Amino acid sequence: MKKYINKILIITCFLILSAISLISCDTSGNVFKIDFFALDTYISVTAYDCDKSILAGLEELVRSYENKISVTNEDSQVSLFNRNKTATFDSDISSLLEKSLDACKKTQGYFDITVHPAVKKWGFFDDKLYVPTSSELKELTNKIDYKKITCNGEIYSTTSDCEIDLGGCAKGYIGDKCAEYLVEHNVTSAVINLGGNVKVLGKKTDNSKYNIAIESPDKYGYIAYISAEDTSIVTSGAYERNFADESGNIYHHIIDPFTAAPAQSDICSVSIICDDGTLADCLSTALYVMGSQKAIEFSNTHDNFGAIILMNDDTVFVSESIKNIVTLEDKYILYRES
Ligand code: AMP
Ligand code: MG
Repeated sequence: MKKYINKILIITCFLILSAISLISCDTSGNVFKIDFFALDTYISVTAYDCDKSILAGLEELVRSYENKISVTNEDSQVSLFNRNKTATFDSDISSLLEKSLDACKKTQGYFDITVHPAVKKWGFFDDKLYVPTSSELKELTNKIDYKKITCNGEIYSTTSDCEIDLGGCAKGYIGDKCAEYLVEHNVTSAVINLGGNVKVLGKKTDNSKYNIAIESPDKYGYIAYISAEDTSIVTSGAYERNFADESGNIYHHIIDPFTAAPAQSDICSVSIICDDGTLADCLSTALYVMGSQKAIEFSNTHDNFGAIILMNDDTVFVSESIKNIVTLEDKYILYRES
């Protein structure tokens, strides 16, 4: 009955490719690549003028962040906070929390890290679809409110009904941290791909920019190509993780905090291009929930990021500021505001 379509696909591909992490290098010896499974997704990093030990350290870094952030690890700092309703986080996690709370505020609650009770109820936490009743949804919406998280000095606290989930921003943040780690190890050119959330470090060794493709929702082609240097490209879409019930209704993992249900969006996918990967990740989720009209308005009134928004009718909004670095695939039509 239950289908966890994309997750299964990714895991199957990964298992076919490798049971353990793979580190390889090209014949000239200066391009290194590592592939591994973490953060519930397939991760690949390609770095130039690097070495194996640096990439092995990078895998460890990703796993250490996963251990601290993941709600599926009951000993993570986030899980401890959810159980005890109070915690002091280490500097990494408190910085992620501050950034994500700021995004909750700036997006007027379309991004809300307190969606966890809804994520759990719908079964996205333990892969068991459950469709809540309308009174259960009402109860859930009362639980979701990022303003319930308070901070006194270094101590964060919340109310008894509140639980956080940093799944909407963690990959963006970890991508930034991976780039920082590589720079500390004198690597100046790399592409870090955390399941489609991409962090680009520097340029290619021939001094040209990286050409990053955004996969189409059916995974058979691409929506657009971005000429990128030192930036993050983060994508959200309902197709990434969803359940289908026996009648074919699809329930996906991006929750509308105002209804506690999967967002009813006319958007297929949102890609955010921004130097700050954490912000890019928060915004990709938030703009998806907003729906096209609000998302376009939000993009047009903020100049610290660029957005590529694929609507259900195959039209694509591209922010003015990034039009010169984005090439759309032929089948898509550029959205023009009337
Ligand atoms: P993303 O793939 O970055 O869009 O993030 C989706 C993940 O973020 C979900 O699996 C949830 O863990 C969490 N999430 C879902 N809806 C929201 C929301 N409206 N605001 C913040 N996090 C969310
Ligand atoms: Mg996100």
